[in-house]
Amino acid sequence: MTVRTRVAPSPTGDPHVGTAYIALFNLAFARQHGGQFILRIEDTDQTRSTAESEKTILDSMRWLGLEWDEGPDVGGPHGPYRQSERKDSYRDFAMRLVEEGKAFHCYRTAEELDVLREARRAEGKHTALKQSDLQLPEDEIEQRRAAGAPYVVRMKVPEEGVCVIGDMLRGTIELDWSQVDCQILLKSDGMPTYHLANVVDDHLMEITHVIRGEEWISSAPKHKLLYEYFGWEMPQLCHMPLLRNPDKSKLSKRKNPTSILYYQRMGYLPEALLNYLGRMGWSMPDESEKFSRQQMFENFDIQRVSLGGPIFDQEKLSWLNGLWLREDLTPEQFAQAYQQWALNPEYLMQIVPLIQQRVEKLSDVAPLAGFLLSGMLDLEASDFDYKGLDLEQTRRVLQFASWLLDTESQWHKDRLFAQLKQLAGAMELKIRDFLYPLFIAIAGTNQTVSVMDSMAILGPDMTRARLRHALNIVGGPSKKEGKRWDKEFRAMQAQFED
Ligand code: GLU
Repeated sequence: MTVRTRVAPSPTGDPHVGTAYIALFNLAFARQHGGQFILRIEDTDQTRSTAESEKTILDSMRWLGLEWDEGPDVGGPHGPYRQSERKDSYRDFAMRLVEEGKAFHCYRTAEELDVLREARRAEGKHTALKQSDLQLPEDEIEQRRAAGAPYVVRMKVPEEGVCVIGDMLRGTIELDWSQVDCQILLKSDGMPTYHLANVVDDHLMEITHVIRGEEWISSAPKHKLLYEYFGWEMPQLCHMPLLRNPDKSKLSKRKNPTSILYYQRMGYLPEALLNYLGRMGWSMPDESEKFSRQQMFENFDIQRVSLGGPIFDQEKLSWLNGLWLREDLTPEQFAQAYQQWALNPEYLMQIVPLIQQRVEKLSDVAPLAGFLLSGMLDLEASDFDYKGLDLEQTRRVLQFASWLLDTESQWHKDRLFAQLKQLAGAMELKIRDFLYPLFIAIAGTNQTVSVMDSMAILGPDMTRARLRHALNIVGGPSKKEGKRWDKEFRAMQAQFED
């Protein structure tokens, strides 16, 4: 048997360090066994998936040195590797289950589902809906079908009993069928859900080992049942521990940068970031902290993964990156790495249009653009002093802008400006005053280029990190204040036009 593993990102945002972490362990496992590693794009959620996101995911995985043997860009014998290009086959598989009585058409409306769930809740039962809950009388189904009502295809699941899942790290996991609902397999628009597409593709792509994050454990019973329904052998499952913030909560962009683009912009070497990800829950047999990709693959053993939640700590990463910079690069290589990072044509050409009209000499460039080539800025509370705003207003602007940008998924300067302008209006501040603390947080001064362009260039995670840094300096809200502000902010946001 040839070992075949895969990583299956959904292209719905910035490339996540968690994706790279899972990819690394799949790649290491495949290489250790002389097998293959596949990259599949799971873009069945057509409203959230974008080509731009897919491109940045592929680019940043490649930047890290995670190479795949088959994928949407390199092709392979099991293509296409983008689920949106495989959608007809999922429908056939769903129909097969319907014909065999293992799945059914469900005409229930969203309102009816709410009522059904509420009823179960009232009875003190789990809200997972079963076929017996969802069943409509035959004539009602007929009527809805004749009227062309939308329907989904759902899988049948046992009402009770225990589902036993084998896991390479956890031994056996037992999950109660009563908590598993009749999962939708095909949506009313004919697109498959993650569960159907994932199982079908893992089978057709001959995946032997599924190494994925532990957040998928609860999906495993549905997947196991689908393999049984289709009569296919299930790959071995391995659920990796989730990356955590230093406070042990699940790694989230509200608290920590999660985008690989941020770590790139911050000036971490890909070798160091990959090395650090390799240390997430895993260690070398001799416990050495610094190791290359090759050394990791040569010494890899999945059984050395420990299940305690690995902490993704930027300070530790910086320490490791420092070792790589100091110990592994000749001065020439260092110069080359710096040039590649700061002075590569792609990045420079984003900066030049902003600064060219504002300088008299080339020596003016570095002071003006320095903040675009920096990490966290060296700021003091007094830097935020401004006649147009008192301290309370400054703190509120930084916090509200930070909350607003936490949820912003369209990171383009016009969009950012439109959103922030609405916020300034809702806070009853002149845009000029409102922008002052943002200028200081992002650029360290307001005598500089457009702050919207700067945020667009720096990207979401660097922008958010600088706003959080600024808030720490001026003093973020106390617990009580935070609650009050949050309420106010939500009320404002509810009025925003999209
Ligand atoms: N598309 C899923 C994700 O975004 C893949 C999960 C899996 O590996 O099964 O993480």
